Amino acid sequence: MNAARLTLLGSQHNELVNYFEKPSKGEERAAIVLFRRLHINVDGLPDSDRFIAQDVIPFDKAWINSSSPSHVDFKLAPLREVFRRCEEEKLVFGFVHNHPEGPNEFSIKDDDNEITLLKAISNRNGKDITFVAMLWTKSGWKARVRAAALPEKALPVRHTLVTTDPLKIYGYRESSEDHSEIHKRGATAFGQPFVDMLQSLRVGVVGTGGTGSPFATLGARAGIGELVLIDGDDLALSNLNRVRGLKRNDVGKNKASKLKDFIEDIGVSVKVGAYESIIDSDPKALDALASCDVVVGCTDDFVGRDVMNIAIYAYAQLYIDLGLGGRIMDDKRGQPVLRYHFGRISTILPESGECLFCQGVIHEKWIQTQLLKRENPNLTKEELKERYLEDGGEEAPGVGPFTSATADFALATLFDLIKPYRRRPPELRRDMIQIDFVNMELSSRQTKSNNECPYCRQRKFLLMKETYRLKRPVLGKRDEYI
Ligand SMILES: [Zn+2]
Ligand SMILES: [Zn+2]
Repeated sequence: MNAARLTLLGSQHNELVNYFEKPSKGEERAAIVLFRRLHINVDGLPDSDRFIAQDVIPFDKAWINSSSPSHVDFKLAPLREVFRRCEEEKLVFGFVHNHPEGPNEFSIKDDDNEITLLKAISNRNGKDITFVAMLWTKSGWKARVRAAALPEKALPVRHTLVTTDPLKIYGYRESSEDHSEIHKRGATAFGQPFVDMLQSLRVGVVGTGGTGSPFATLGARAGIGELVLIDGDDLALSNLNRVRGLKRNDVGKNKASKLKDFIEDIGVSVKVGAYESIIDSDPKALDALASCDVVVGCTDDFVGRDVMNIAIYAYAQLYIDLGLGGRIMDDKRGQPVLRYHFGRISTILPESGECLFCQGVIHEKWIQTQLLKRENPNLTKEELKERYLEDGGEEAPGVGPFTSATADFALATLFDLIKPYRRRPPELRRDMIQIDFVNMELSSRQTKSNNECPYCRQRKFLLMKETYRLKRPVLGKRDEYI
């Protein structure tokens, strides 16, 4: 077992912090967080489980024997009900408490408490379980993980990520000297913690063409610690006008794998995993994506975007989706004129920003059209109309400067979420910005504010039982939980 990563939704974090910081007599308090554990191996990346918080349960007064500003003593018996729930719902028990009067670290008493709790759970639920401990201190969350097989060994987590806008990242490791020269400029602009937080993140890039390849290469250079690249396509000659890092020799070879080779050759600290497949039909690629903290959608594919749109709610991720579109018309002499051309950056978190449906980026009809076209590649526009389907494809010319500019803007958006620096005029929404390359304007579409939306700010997908991955039989059953 390697350094795991914890993810809390902003509302879960706030609930815990309010509970710890507003007790009547400043006494120490305890709570339970139930986690879902994603135990996923990605070739090329270090082993790192993701624990996603599902539920917060503050300790009931009746469970407490005594408490003071420096201790909390509780009964084990009432917790058995929660142990049972962990077993039935395949959840990991997380014990969370605070130290109102310090110390700022786990104490020896905490070691004893955790081992007692772990043994009690393991006696009931078996030897394969893991256990999470979190401590709320003046400097934020401290967290560690234990396994029933080795109860005495507490492994510190890699970070605790809170999916708010901006992101909060606690407990990340401070960087070594090895790469400080490479990241000197980043540290000058945003501070060393920014570089270290970027280093701690695992970022999935879906689609490694015109927008994905510049995002991934510049992201790696900026200090992203781990990248997962997913693309089912081979490089075509017509891609060479815009992809970053790929060469004529790579034509006919898979884009994700060749980009992995290129990024590894740059010689920065990033670790890269690559999947030669598409996200909506390869269970392994989706698992790798679920293991990421951040997902960057760089595909033109509506079916793929639909999967990523659901995934962020199920796996509590930050999602940045990129798109290009516009209008080309002919002039009097029949020469094309670029009338309108934009790059779009959508930034969605499980509890803020509108989903891709509400943003008008994807549409059920377009998804169905694409699925139908995959089955019948020769369907004409007329035949689709007969089926009441339509293409949503905004015909994007895919010219290097525009694809690159959109990708660069998206990476700068990720920077802003880690270390806020932007001062947006009020008419620009955080969750959707369009760069108009012809009229040289930034704009945002109107919000839809659809209270009925099944995705926007809903917990339904976070709490769903994933018999099939994302409830899609085509993606197969997931058997690794705990
Ligand atoms: Zn303690
Ligand atoms: Zn929505």
